[in-house]
Amino acid sequence: MKHWMPLLAAVLAFSACCQAPAGSPAVVAHRGYWKCEGGAQNSISSLSNAAAIKVWGSEFDVWMTTDDTLVVNHDAKFNKILLKDAKYADFKNMPLDNGELMSTLDEYLAKGLEYPELEMVFEIKTYRDGMDSVYEARVVPAVIAAVKKYGLEKRTTFIAFSLTVCEQVAKLMPENTVQYLNGDLSPKEVYEHGINGIDYHYSCFQQHPEWVKEAHDLGMSVNCWTVNAPSVIREMIDLGVDQITTNEPTLVQKIIGGKSGCCKKSCCQ
Ligand code: MG
Repeated sequence: MKHWMPLLAAVLAFSACCQAPAGSPAVVAHRGYWKCEGGAQNSISSLSNAAAIKVWGSEFDVWMTTDDTLVVNHDAKFNKILLKDAKYADFKNMPLDNGELMSTLDEYLAKGLEYPELEMVFEIKTYRDGMDSVYEARVVPAVIAAVKKYGLEKRTTFIAFSLTVCEQVAKLMPENTVQYLNGDLSPKEVYEHGINGIDYHYSCFQQHPEWVKEAHDLGMSVNCWTVNAPSVIREMIDLGVDQITTNEPTLVQKIIGGKSGCCKKSCCQ
């Protein structure tokens, strides 16, 4: 009986660690989990809600103001104010849809520290993707400094539409996953830029299902956005993507058949 004990312990540890089937994709809540009462995209509460439903990761979008304040918001403009050309004081007291104020990146990352199991899926926004080199040169070191300040390097995945931004982050943070969002390059082409992941609209994988294997053969991670319909969720699972980014995280969890709170490769495979 004794010699079965290590195996039993391993099985129990595995069960406790990961309730999702091995190899199933991890779930990323797109702009946090905000499809609940009082929710707002990219709000601090959406981050807390994502942690509460035990998704693997919570995605959020970051802009930088002219006075070097990093803020969490999806659109380039907030109440008609172009964030990258504004001062923080120009909009800091304007509420989001749910009455919360837009959070600074400092506030957001500080909150993220409270959820040590949650991957922070950090989108670095650019106004004209790859076209604003001055802005890109400012924002990349600033966001990396912020992540380091909070000691979140080990559980931050960076994503960006700008190839230049992805290249810069990949160079400065070689241990981190960096996923290119724009969908216009094959995995091999992205890899040749020194970038170790892709996060493409699901239609790219419908058009190029072979890209999942191509990426995996190169050791790259594969995420897809924004997957909300059950039929497409199942399609992406069958294709073998590593992560599914969704506005419907509880639906994806249900389809996968368990929680994906800790379904990292290191945990489940
Ligand atoms: Mg985003």
